[in-house]
Amino acid sequence: MIPVVALVGRPNVGKSTLFNRLTRTRDALVADFPGLTRDRKYGRAFLSGHEFIVVDTGGIDGSEEGIETKMAEQSLAAIAEADVVLFMTDARAGLTAADEAIARYLRSREKMTFLVANKVDGIDGDSAVAEFWALGLGEIYQIAASQGRGVSSLIDNALAPFAKAMADDEGEDESDEPRKPVRQYTEEEAEAEQTRLQELPIKLAIIGKPNVGKSTLTNRILGEERVVVYDQPGTTRDSIYIPMERDGREYVLIDTAGVRRRAKVHDVVEKFSVIKTLKAVEDANVVLLVIDAREGIAEQDLGLLGFAINAGRALVIAVNKWDGIDTDIKERVKTELDRRLGFIDFARIHFISALHGTGVGHLFESIEEAYQSATRRVGTSMLTKIMQMAQDDHQPPLVNGRRVKLKYAHAGGYNPPIVVIHGNQVSRLPDSYKRYMMNYYRRTLNIVGTPIQLRFQEGE
Ligand code: GDP
Ligand code: GDP
Repeated sequence: MIPVVALVGRPNVGKSTLFNRLTRTRDALVADFPGLTRDRKYGRAFLSGHEFIVVDTGGIDGSEEGIETKMAEQSLAAIAEADVVLFMTDARAGLTAADEAIARYLRSREKMTFLVANKVDGIDGDSAVAEFWALGLGEIYQIAASQGRGVSSLIDNALAPFAKAMADDEGEDESDEPRKPVRQYTEEEAEAEQTRLQELPIKLAIIGKPNVGKSTLTNRILGEERVVVYDQPGTTRDSIYIPMERDGREYVLIDTAGVRRRAKVHDVVEKFSVIKTLKAVEDANVVLLVIDAREGIAEQDLGLLGFAINAGRALVIAVNKWDGIDTDIKERVKTELDRRLGFIDFARIHFISALHGTGVGHLFESIEEAYQSATRRVGTSMLTKIMQMAQDDHQPPLVNGRRVKLKYAHAGGYNPPIVVIHGNQVSRLPDSYKRYMMNYYRRTLNIVGTPIQLRFQEGE
């Protein structure tokens, strides 16, 4: 499971600066979908071989008494659910009472905590941070988040227990941007990988903000189908994995709503947890995002959507509670969907009623289709041919009087499909051209229900 790193500290110490540094990626798909605002609190990070979810818990002002009352429930939940806490302080401002209060709180949680002294650029770090030893949190990691200084080694230390060997890190990428390495498949490996994916059950995460109807939908789906097993050990903070079968296809339903949990847990984390949802997204093959027709599209819906797309997940959207609403309201909802989700033209949208079961069966057609698209194998020669066609139709721009030249393409992964394109001066390609190329692939290969990721590599 992907580890979760929480950034904790009083306001102004540099949490959002570090968050931005950890989560920015050149090929972030958010850039390809201009309508998606990135959630400023939750992001995916990839840095020096570590992949993780990073959460900015917001400023804890940490007055001496009652620190818990000062923190929003979601911030406390984030700390509770995090695997690692990066406790940030400001080396320039020196140690404050708020820092001490936060340190006491974190010590009482017995969380794996790393003490970070930020803003050591242009000052004598060692003497500036000397007083922070008094916090009793051990080693002090000196960083300058705004310049990225010390960040890699901080992450290396903090995530060492979670490190797993990254397959085929080719290190070909010369940019300083954090990004996941891609695989160079031989045709045989690609075929084996695809066969493997086709034989596995589809992991389907049903996600959405509270009260949109996830539990109702999950029960509806399970009620109609034979549930093989559902009781699984796990902590209350994990989603439940429910194996099921439908039309001869095996699925594992990732239940973020806690429908099939035995023990009733009255816990904010249990009721709805963003982190639990994000972990489910990371672990799924296909995400089913449920939206409430009666509520319209909320920021939180867009945040979850952005995360799912950035994670490269295949995606189906269910607009729920479509029963009993007037025709004019239906029209209004559709217009709003068009306006706010029009840019995600690859995902199928279904209008359903989980309560009555209307439209639920058809969801699975789109889920299957999305998964097929996400795992479909396309050979090097076809990918290169399509790239060439796109390039012939519309040439890449001139940069410094020389034309960017794309040479060949190959597959770099599945679910999401990754296309690696090699060429000259590819780092100068504007986003608009990358988008054009992505859409060209999508149209030509008729890829529905999954984002496509393009990676550009310089040279052969
Ligand atoms: P947050 O409130 O904890 O999220 O803090 P911000 O990330 O908004 O940063 C607060 C201020 O500190 C901003 O003006 C940043 O530009 C500045 N800052 C953040 N990191 C650094 C750093 O490494 N060095 C310096 N000199 N300033 C920084
Ligand atoms: P969750 O928090 O996303 O799991 O949402 P629930 O499944 O608990 O549903 C929240 C509320 O919406 C409940 O009162 C449900 O009965 C209601 N609800 C769920 N699906 C539908 C639907 O399709 N139509 C209508 N009218 N109500 C629904």
